[in-house]
Amino acid sequence: MSEDKLTKWLAEKLLGKGDAEKSAPAGAKPAHSPVKPGHPVAARNHPAPHKSHGAQHHAGQKPHGQPGRKPHSGGRSPQAAHAPHARNASGSSSGPGSTRIVALGGLDEVGRNCMIFENDKDILIVDMGFQFPDQDMLGIDYIIPDTTYLDDKKDRIRGILLTHGHLDHVGAIPYLIEKLGFPPIYGTKLTLGIVGRKLEEFGLTKRVRMETITADDILRFGTWNVSFFRVNHSIPDAVGIVLRSPNGSFVHTGDFKFDLSPAGDQRPAEFDKISALGKQNVTALFSDSTNALKPGHTMSEHEVAKNLDEIIRTCEGRIIIAAFSSLIARIQQIMDYALKYRRKVYISGRSMMETLEVAKVLGYLKYPKDLVHDAARMGKTHDKETLILTTGSQGEDVSALTRISLGNHPTIRIKKNDTVVISATPIPGNEKAVTSVINNLCRLGAKVIHSKIMDVHTSGHGAQEDLKLMITMVHPKYLVPVHGEYFMRQGHNELGKQLGMPEKQCVMVENGDVMEFKNGEIRITGEKVPTNYVLVDGLGTGDIGNQVLMDRQTMSENGALVVLLSLNKKTNKLLREPDIISRGFIYMNESEEVITKVSKEAKDIFMKSMSKKPDLKRGELKNNLKIGLEKMIHRMIERRPLILPIIAELDNDGLGKPAPSNHDD
Ligand SMILES: [Zn+2]
Ligand SMILES: [Zn+2]
Repeated sequence: MSEDKLTKWLAEKLLGKGDAEKSAPAGAKPAHSPVKPGHPVAARNHPAPHKSHGAQHHAGQKPHGQPGRKPHSGGRSPQAAHAPHARNASGSSSGPGSTRIVALGGLDEVGRNCMIFENDKDILIVDMGFQFPDQDMLGIDYIIPDTTYLDDKKDRIRGILLTHGHLDHVGAIPYLIEKLGFPPIYGTKLTLGIVGRKLEEFGLTKRVRMETITADDILRFGTWNVSFFRVNHSIPDAVGIVLRSPNGSFVHTGDFKFDLSPAGDQRPAEFDKISALGKQNVTALFSDSTNALKPGHTMSEHEVAKNLDEIIRTCEGRIIIAAFSSLIARIQQIMDYALKYRRKVYISGRSMMETLEVAKVLGYLKYPKDLVHDAARMGKTHDKETLILTTGSQGEDVSALTRISLGNHPTIRIKKNDTVVISATPIPGNEKAVTSVINNLCRLGAKVIHSKIMDVHTSGHGAQEDLKLMITMVHPKYLVPVHGEYFMRQGHNELGKQLGMPEKQCVMVENGDVMEFKNGEIRITGEKVPTNYVLVDGLGTGDIGNQVLMDRQTMSENGALVVLLSLNKKTNKLLREPDIISRGFIYMNESEEVITKVSKEAKDIFMKSMSKKPDLKRGELKNNLKIGLEKMIHRMIERRPLILPIIAELDNDGLGKPAPSNHDD
C-alpha cells in the first residue's frame, strides 16, 4: 500500500465526523505529568543570560511596556533548581570554533519553522512552529519539527527565541519543550501571551521559564550575543533577531513586511536599526520568502482600514467578518468601526475568543465591555446593529464560517440581507475550500466580499520590493532565503542576484542541510540532519513519550495496527475478544501468534483500566491501549507500528448497529 493510501485508509478507519471536530487545535488536553525522579531532563542547567538594555535605544521610542525581568509565569523549571551542572558537549559534530546553522523546518513549506544556531557549547533555537497537514493526511492535526538532532545536545540549548506569535512559529512548543529539557523561552509580550495560553492547556505552565523581551533588549548566551529589531507583520509585536557569534553575525528577519502606516497603535519597522546592520558586516541574512514572487510593495493596513470602514458604514443588514484571530490590529479596527456605527460585535469560534481574551488582557486590544458578546447570545439584536466576527477565513472544515455556509451553525443562519467579508486571502492549498465556502454563502443569499473584489486584506509578508529593501539595508555577505516552499525561496534568491549579489552568495539550502560558518565563510557540510515529518494527532495526550508522535516514514515502514474493542453501550462489558487488523508490519508466518498476543494484551489493558476507573472516558481508554500495546509490541518484535484503537459501542450484545463512540473523547 502506498504511503498516501495508507494514510487515507487509516483515516477512514479512525475518523468519524465527531472525531474530526474534536481534532480542532486545542482538542488534545494532555495530562499533567509530574516530574519523574531521575528523568533525563533533570541533568541540565540553563544559566540565565546576561541581559543589558538600551544600547540601541532610540530617542522618542519607548519600548512596548516594561522590560520583563521576571519570569513571565511559573518560574524556573523545577528540574533546573536541583540540576547538577551538566555541560559535557557529548556528541558534538561541530568543528571546533565554527558556527553551525540548520533549519529543522520551514524551507520546504510555509510552516514548522525552526532553526538551530549552534556554537561549540551554546545552542539557540529560533522559533518552533507547526504546520497544518496536507488534505490527504486526514486524522493528523499538526506536523511538528523533528528534533532528533538535539537529542544528545539538550544540555547545550540555552534558549528558544521567538520572532512572533503565529502558530507556524510557536505552535510546536507544547509538544517539544519537555523533550528538549525545558529550555527557557524568550519572546515579546504578546508572543509569550499566546505561548503561555498554549502551555496552560497542556498543563506545562509551571515547568517552563518564559522571559519577556522588547526589541531593545540585548541578551548574552555564552558565546552568543543576541539583539532584536521591530518589524511589521500581521500580528503585533513581531521582531527580527540578530545573532552574533565569534564566526559572524546572522540576521533572521522572522516574518515581516514594511508598513509605514500600520494598523492600530503599532509603529513602523525599525528602519534605523536594520540599516545600521548594513555597516556591521553581517555574514548571512535569513529572510522571509513567502511573497518573493509578488511584485511591488505589500499594501499598507491603512488601505484595508479605509475599505472596512466603508463597508461597515454603508451595509444595511448584518455584517459577518471572517479574519485570522491573530490579526489583532485589524480586529481592533473592526471593533472601532463597530462602535462608531453602533453595531454590537458577536464572536463565533473558539480560537477567536481565546486570542481576543489574551490580547485584551495584555492591552493589545481595547474595547468597551458591552461591545463584544458571544454569538450564542445574539438574541434579537437588530440586523443593522449586528456585526459577527468569526474564524474560518481559510475554509477550514470545522470552522464557524464553514458551518455557517453549510447552514449547520448552532446559532447563525444566513439571511437575505447579510454581507459576509472574508478579510484574508487563501493560503496556498486552501483555495478550493474557500471557494466552496463563498459559493455556499452566495447560495444562501449573502453578499460576499473577498480580497478579489475589494482590498479587505493585505498580506503580512513583504513583496519583492520589500525583500530587496531588506537585503539592501542589511547588506549581508550571504542571502539565505527561508520561510517558504522551494520555488518561493528560489524567487527570493533571484532578487538577491538582481541586486548584484554573486550567485555563490545566494544560498539555497534545504531542511536539514548543515551550514557551517568560520571566519565569515560558509561551507555546506553535506551532512543531513533528520527532518522527518513528525505527526501529531488529536489523541496525543500526556508527556511527549506518550503522545501520538510519529513520522510518516515510520508509519510506512512499520505499518499500522487497528485494535477494535466492541463494548455493550450500557454495561461497558467487552462483547468479544478484541479484533486486531494489521497492515504491513509483521510477516505472515509470525502474524498469528503476534495477533493473538496483542488481542490478549488489549483485553488485559481494558480490564485493568476499567477496574481502576469505571467511568473512564473513551479517550483515556484509547490512550491506555495505545501506550500499553506500543510497549508490548516493541518488546516483542522491536517495531513501532501506528496503533489505532477503535471502540465500537453496541446497543445490545452485538446484534444492533454500532453507535458512534467519538463524541466523548
Ligand atoms: Zn507569521
Ligand atoms: Zn510564518
